[in-house]
Amino acid sequence: MQLIDGKVLAKTIKAELAAEVENLTANGGKIPHLAAVLVGDNPASQVYVKNKVRSCEKIGFKSTLIRKDAETTEAELLEIIDQLNNDADIDGFIVQLPLPEHIDETKVTLAIDPKKDVDGFHPMNFGRMSQGLPCYIPATPYGILVMLERYGIETSGKNCVVVGRSNIVGTPMSILMSRKSKVGNCTVTLTHSRTKDLKAETLRADIIIAAIGIPNFITADMVKEGAVIIDVGINRVDDASRKRGYRLVGDVDFDGVAPKSSFITPVPGGVGQMTVTALLMNTMKSAKGEIY
Ligand code: NAD
Repeated sequence: MQLIDGKVLAKTIKAELAAEVENLTANGGKIPHLAAVLVGDNPASQVYVKNKVRSCEKIGFKSTLIRKDAETTEAELLEIIDQLNNDADIDGFIVQLPLPEHIDETKVTLAIDPKKDVDGFHPMNFGRMSQGLPCYIPATPYGILVMLERYGIETSGKNCVVVGRSNIVGTPMSILMSRKSKVGNCTVTLTHSRTKDLKAETLRADIIIAAIGIPNFITADMVKEGAVIIDVGINRVDDASRKRGYRLVGDVDFDGVAPKSSFITPVPGGVGQMTVTALLMNTMKSAKGEIY
């Protein structure tokens, strides 16, 4: 079993991006600039956005954080998006989800200029991804592709089972793994809560990508010997022995599954570490005009 170390890989890629920024600076190029809009006071969102801004600063990107209170109206948010769309210095921006209930997330996603949609949530980018055209790939799936590539994991011709069909992880992951590209060329099965015999599906998998949101859901009896395991889940479970009263676990029962796997991502320290890194990679692509 080999651990896929998201922490180490994220550090390596961030160092590569920092070197690229230095290079751009030296040659009079544009410094990548990422903006983030945070509406309301969701504690998890605050942590995510802070991480994104801090990561920008560390590698020499410019960053702008726009904080708005939970009472911000949809019209006000759309106005901010319009300004960001038209601000030539901003290469990409994200509107942190979830938004307060009175704001229509679809409307907001559609208002973002696809050229600056570094989260890759706009249907234009999603459609381009589906057709194998240059696009911003959503950060979590992009981070997973980079992990598979950098660890030299062969995917061509393999059976890949994705568990979970969300728009931000499971569904894009299933498309990407089936695409004709360096990491891809898999025969993909997309499973979800209505799948009849999930265990029969996962037992046939050479690669399992679990994005369910249920702690330790994938157990050893569901996994074939030698499978590659990508655990996207980030779940809090009570743990009185920890100062904060909980610990984070994935969707995969790591202790049971790891000995059977060829490669496995831990939680924490796996996919989660790569998500912010992938967002930075998308921002760099935008600054360099690589997508549009
Ligand atoms: P979601 O809640 O939007 O979707 C969950 C999916 O799991 C659904 O498609 C559902 O059909 C499927 N599912 C639920 N019960 C099932 C069952 N019994 N059998 C089979 N499938 C079942 O979740 P999401 O936004 O994709 O997130 C999934 C997990 O990944 C969560 O733990 C989340 O916190 C985590 N996550 C991590 C990152 C990261 O950066 N590592 C990013 C996004 C999400």
